[in-house]
Amino acid sequence: MQSSINTAEISQGVDEAIKACNSWYWAYMNQIRLVSTVFALSGHEFQIRPMSIRPAVKVIMKGTQGTFTEGEVLGTLHGMIYGLYPTGVYYLFPNKDKVSEFSKSRFKPLIQDNPYTIGCHVRDTDSATLKRIGSGFLYFRSGRLGIDLQHEMKSSAALKGDPADHAVHDEYDEMHPGIDEFVDGRLAKSPIQTKSYLANPTLPDYGIDLKFQKSSREYWHTRCEHCSRYTCFDRDDNFPKLFHRKQDGSVIRVCGKCGREMKDLRTGEWVPEKQNEKDIIGFTIGHPSYPWINLKALLDNWEDPESDKANIIRLKRGRAYIEAENRLSLKEVFDCCGTDGIVSSDPGPCFMGVDQGGSDQDLFHVSIGKKHPSKHGKVVYVSIEKGWSELDRFMKIFNVRRCVIDGLPNQEDARSFAHRWPGRVFLSYFSETQKGDYKWDEEAYIVNSNRTEAMDASHKEISSQLLILPKKCQIIEKYASHCHNTAKKLAEDEKTGSKRYVYIPKLGGPDHFRLAQCYETMARQGAPRKMFGGDS
Ligand SMILES: [Zn+2]
Repeated sequence: MQSSINTAEISQGVDEAIKACNSWYWAYMNQIRLVSTVFALSGHEFQIRPMSIRPAVKVIMKGTQGTFTEGEVLGTLHGMIYGLYPTGVYYLFPNKDKVSEFSKSRFKPLIQDNPYTIGCHVRDTDSATLKRIGSGFLYFRSGRLGIDLQHEMKSSAALKGDPADHAVHDEYDEMHPGIDEFVDGRLAKSPIQTKSYLANPTLPDYGIDLKFQKSSREYWHTRCEHCSRYTCFDRDDNFPKLFHRKQDGSVIRVCGKCGREMKDLRTGEWVPEKQNEKDIIGFTIGHPSYPWINLKALLDNWEDPESDKANIIRLKRGRAYIEAENRLSLKEVFDCCGTDGIVSSDPGPCFMGVDQGGSDQDLFHVSIGKKHPSKHGKVVYVSIEKGWSELDRFMKIFNVRRCVIDGLPNQEDARSFAHRWPGRVFLSYFSETQKGDYKWDEEAYIVNSNRTEAMDASHKEISSQLLILPKKCQIIEKYASHCHNTAKKLAEDEKTGSKRYVYIPKLGGPDHFRLAQCYETMARQGAPRKMFGGDS
């Protein structure tokens, strides 16, 4: 009898030990109550691994309705209750509305409906967005970096502010690009320093897609009950190929190997593309793999010529996607290449665009062009330069009538340059409230413009082949890749809720030449005819 008591004690001890280190097991065994359901396994087998690990960085790129937010919230609470995050956790949402909505409609019920497993560990504070759990604090914050957080960042010296051990970024693609720096500052002193990112993807090479590319890249493969081989339904080459419409109109998934119907999706495995990556663990899954999805509706929607393909790809399939018109392809840039090489000087009149910065402060990316009788313009010179005196030299040897240079980061030197060429050099500042024509200030040597409109103008010249570029060579290849490294994305204003397009910079690499081209176009398009007495 003695031994059977021991066995029971041991098994209870093991059970407690697993609960203490595995948030999925803890949520499952305790039957945690969620808003409308109980935390369960069936149909959510893919959730076990993401909830069972705590790597340095966890990335989840997903279709909607995958219940990954629940998983990360439970993982956070579990980690705080069991002392895995002794100092605290930042749980970040894209904006303040989502923070308060989550706090009221999801977090509060979670505490109330699970009094013994969760509620008894949570101590209230004055604020709805701050809870004390175990020894640490749980902060619900907006990752949009509104004025408060931006101010905090500026005065932060990075390390001031509330420290934490872990941060969750929920809907990462909608957050401010400065959020990583903000979070790193908060985690800097923690020996734990773990981060989770989850989102429906938006643009390729941006946000969650960029994080996923750097991760172990794990795809969910399910096992065929007939031939035991594994298939991933999220792959581009399997969707919609492995979704078959039967004679009665219903839709089934078929095995990628034997072609027979796969009804039972319970047995699955995460298969990494990068097996040796252990620090950044990334998962991707979408509607084609979710067992509960209505396959007929999914396929009907996909095949409907009227449907919004971009949204299906991003929100349902969980893949990044950009409409061709919102990002210049390398081909579009090369299609502008003419037969002339880059020249070393030109009688002009020419127009110069200069982007400041890059890896060195005094590095310049330069594009010099002129007007063209049948096209809009022709770029005659492209280069990367060091030192302000080179720009003065170009003003002479290319007979530059108007130059636009970005006002930052080196504002003082840019001003001096403008004063050496009165009326010909303008410092560019972007303003989101500016609409319509570029606003040239002939006295202060400043040009104000709306960034999206200015970028659109140069984008259109290239995409419509209204610009002639020098023939293809090494520097033009670099120029083309910079042009490809920015794209237009619809963004929502947190305060007004209004939507507008913004260009997302540095997608997958630098974009200096793209800005230099934007400035060259501004200079060329903005130069008034009367300035040249007919020589333009
Ligand atoms: Zn099979």
